[in-house]
Amino acid sequence: MTRILKLYSNGEWVDSSNPIKQDILNPANQEIIAKAPEATKEETEEAIKAAKSVFESGIWSECTPLERANVLLQIADMMEDNMNELVALEVENNGKTKREAESDASDAADAFRYYAGLLSNTSGQTYEASYDLQTMIIKEPMGVAGLIVPWNFPLLMSVWKIAPALAAGNSIILKPAEITPMTAVKLFELMDQTDLPKGVAHLLMGSGSIVGQTISESNDVDVVSFTGSTEVGRNIMQAATGNLKKISLELGGKSPNIIFEDADFDTAVDHALFGIFMGSGQVCTSGSRILVQEGIYEEFIKKYVEIVKGINVGPGNDENSEMGAIVSEKHMESILEYIRIGKEEGARLAFGGNRIVQDGMEKGFFIEPTVFADVTSDMRIVKEEIFGPVVVIQKFKDEAEAIKLANDTEFGLAGAVFSSDQNKAMRVIKKVRAGITWVNTYHLTNVQAPWGGYKHSGIGRSLGTYGLDEYQETKQINISMDPKPIQWFK
Ligand code: NAD
Repeated sequence: MTRILKLYSNGEWVDSSNPIKQDILNPANQEIIAKAPEATKEETEEAIKAAKSVFESGIWSECTPLERANVLLQIADMMEDNMNELVALEVENNGKTKREAESDASDAADAFRYYAGLLSNTSGQTYEASYDLQTMIIKEPMGVAGLIVPWNFPLLMSVWKIAPALAAGNSIILKPAEITPMTAVKLFELMDQTDLPKGVAHLLMGSGSIVGQTISESNDVDVVSFTGSTEVGRNIMQAATGNLKKISLELGGKSPNIIFEDADFDTAVDHALFGIFMGSGQVCTSGSRILVQEGIYEEFIKKYVEIVKGINVGPGNDENSEMGAIVSEKHMESILEYIRIGKEEGARLAFGGNRIVQDGMEKGFFIEPTVFADVTSDMRIVKEEIFGPVVVIQKFKDEAEAIKLANDTEFGLAGAVFSSDQNKAMRVIKKVRAGITWVNTYHLTNVQAPWGGYKHSGIGRSLGTYGLDEYQETKQINISMDPKPIQWFK
């Protein structure tokens, strides 16, 4: 029997008054795994009101940091106890491989632990303005935090927002992507069993244009943290102007991966594969533009394609699969359209380019890992985010040209440099206009480091102490230690 999902509002699982339900599919075979509610505008407004009133009650916002830390640790424990189910749900709903889902789920539990740890630190600053005037600088929760996440890392992106927002003492409304709510539902079931006071956390499934828009516009929402496309990020920025709410936007990318002739060849090839084909290329920081120095250009393509040919594409729950499904038919069609455009633009298709419909994959949304070479900067496949297993390889002459090509993009999310000359690698990476960068590696990062982009890739930073700041107000309290009239007005 198909599972019917419910909204979680004000501490209860409730049906939506909207009879329309979204079919939740397994992208590896199109089986319907659940039906999700689509919250109405009124239900969204009610949840925001409830979240605000719980915030004002102080039941969570005025807890001691250690009380909040204990709840975050309970959530981490619950996640770890239910890891297998979280992983299975992510694989089934998103299409990613089990190995990828395991890594996401364990990073997600770690994020709760990390923010619990931060709460155990001393916080705030003091400043001695004069001998008898001391300034205290403190952080306070903001109020209601609207958290809007995409479908590519349904669990991890939710937790990257929930953990710091709760740690800071806010009430939260989470809106998962329409097509991938399964792990968010499980996470809220787990949070419901902890000491998190009822009404602090709300889960609203539904459309971006209703639920997302209502959250972004609401004068009762104090901060919106959004991860998704640059186009929707722009909408959110406009919608947020009513009450000038704080926003943080983690948006798209078209990240350059620069490979110099003096790089360790096998390491560079290996990371350039991981950089784009992990998550079937549906990763915001994917190294989707590989820039290779002319002396090793052909040799690089030859070796790269040789390995790409052997990548095992298949259902995420098959232990042999190295690359999973594309999340939806609509998204698969958009990727195939880009492949068509690439061919039309005259790029050399070095490998792939097709939907995979054999070996039991005919009902799933699978695309061959695809490699375009000899691309030029004016091509759409070089400029636009494809968000799939499609990489473009471009040749450069020297350091100056590598930097020029790397920065020839409206995005600025990520980038990498491969070279055995550390000085050159550092010179070049410092010139790459992006927020998340690597030298001689790709994708590896940690919860302590700030996550976010330059240019059209967003505003603000997730994770680390920066991620906590996104959900906090900063207040100065000036304290006189010798209260007496100052007699400005005689
Ligand atoms: P999307 O922008 O279509 O949707 C993201 C979320 O926004 C969904 O929950 C959606 O329902 C909601 N939404 C849609 N319209 C809205 C509106 N008008 N107001 C408020 N919310 C609205 O993105 P997607 O297709 O789910 O995800 C892919 C995109 O996300 C890619 O561009 C990718 O680069 C980006 N991404 C960025 C990061 C990062 O950390 N920078 C991480 C993951 C994904």
